[in-house]
Amino acid sequence: NDRNRIYPNEINDLAKEVFPPCMRSIHDTLRRDHHLKHYGRLHYGLFLKSAGLKMEDSIEFFRSEMSIHNPEKFQKEYSYAIRYIYGREGKRVQLSAYSCQKIINGCAPGPSDTHGCPFKHFDTKHLKAMLVRYGISDEEQISEIVQLVTKEGNATGACAKYFSIKHRVTEDFSTIYHPNQFLTEARKVLLT
Ligand code: SF4
Repeated sequence: NDRNRIYPNEINDLAKEVFPPCMRSIHDTLRRDHHLKHYGRLHYGLFLKSAGLKMEDSIEFFRSEMSIHNPEKFQKEYSYAIRYIYGREGKRVQLSAYSCQKIINGCAPGPSDTHGCPFKHFDTKHLKAMLVRYGISDEEQISEIVQLVTKEGNATGACAKYFSIKHRVTEDFSTIYHPNQFLTEARKVLLT
């Protein structure tokens, strides 16, 4: 089992089990709308690349999610974007996945955007609803997470708290600084 590689048919389960909320939330929108706007596509595509999804697999994954409604649009927009993410188009640079700081301080999502950090960009009502949806049902735990955001403006701390609760780590998980770090740590917990 090569843990440096992931496959399209695993993504749904991985999203539920081990993706950080920012990426799970993009994934959920993709599944629901079969569409992602530019930054969502970029952040999620780069995250999946870093998680070990090969370019061909990424094209297959996005195509199976998109082409349901619009095959031509996929060809025009997405397959170029994916090849760009993998350094095969445009300036052919090796782009790396966005860190939490970049996502948190980068351009804020508009109403129909999907990118961004839920602990920074969601209002309290939506944040609470998301936590419940993602399996945190205890009122006290929810308010602990929410307070880190509302009282301290500590998005990555709130994410670390979410991690500790969701993955049942007894000692408080110290810090989250990158969505791919969240993923790696979550998979470690799952394997132990
Ligand atoms: Fe994603 Fe980082 Fe925000 Fe957690 S703190 S949801 S990993 S951007």
